[in-house]
Amino acid sequence: MNPTSQRKPPEFKVVPMRQLGATLPVGIFTNGRYERSFGVRPFRLREEKAIGELRSRGRGLNTGRLVAEVLSKMCTHIGPYNFEEMKESERLLRISQMYLMDVLYVYVYLRVNALGDELPLMITCPNCRHTFKITTHLNDLDIRVLADQSLSDIGFEYELRDGIVIQEQTHNVLTIGFMPWHAMDVPELEGSNGLNPAMRDAAMLKAGIQAIDGEPVTVLDRDLDELTLYDKTGLMDAMSESMFGPVLFVQNQCPKCTLDTLQPIDWSYDSFFKRSSQSKTQNA
Ligand SMILES: [Zn+2]
Repeated sequence: MNPTSQRKPPEFKVVPMRQLGATLPVGIFTNGRYERSFGVRPFRLREEKAIGELRSRGRGLNTGRLVAEVLSKMCTHIGPYNFEEMKESERLLRISQMYLMDVLYVYVYLRVNALGDELPLMITCPNCRHTFKITTHLNDLDIRVLADQSLSDIGFEYELRDGIVIQEQTHNVLTIGFMPWHAMDVPELEGSNGLNPAMRDAAMLKAGIQAIDGEPVTVLDRDLDELTLYDKTGLMDAMSESMFGPVLFVQNQCPKCTLDTLQPIDWSYDSFFKRSSQSKTQNA
């Protein structure tokens, strides 16, 4: 297999969140173009209550469903969809079909709109275990925006070193396609599993792999179990490097041992939509 014949991931340009504003990083492809604008409501006590109520009755509400519900309640329109004229079920369906990182971008935007862009984070140094607090500014987040707006297909091909065995046949070239939000709305990601990296990796792989050696497939858990660690790691890296949308990592230096690290930002609802204790004191 000649690697140069493979389809490469599409290019992106990096734009800070403050500059991108209420515009989707990719968008919803409609009538030959991407519709990228969205509108949000102010996050008032009414909205907070509605989301609180949803969470109290939604035992086992997974991360994917909760984020979709937040968007459904908080957005006035997304791309071509006028949410004010749609039923709740219709809005949730449209969100579930959107590009995964577009949904996550709207969610981050809603957080900035509701509580401002300062996000306090507790960091534990992986080297010396020292725990310290930093404040990150979400408006400074890098957002990867699709560079070529005429490209309707944002998929690419990836060649495995060891291959994947399906029905006694070894296959090597995977087609990684458009990843919809409903990849996050699966039972495996319920509760605390929503933030378990291994569970998320499996959900991402199942949603992302769309063809094997050119044949469209639905990948099963038992197929993924066959991937070697080398191939799985390489594939996950290729998928995250090619992903559009917010880069939810923060760079920092440990004040004790000076190690530079890149830490993932916890965007779960409880961590994200909670005011810092400092601002609570100020409001009291
Ligand atoms: Zn340290």
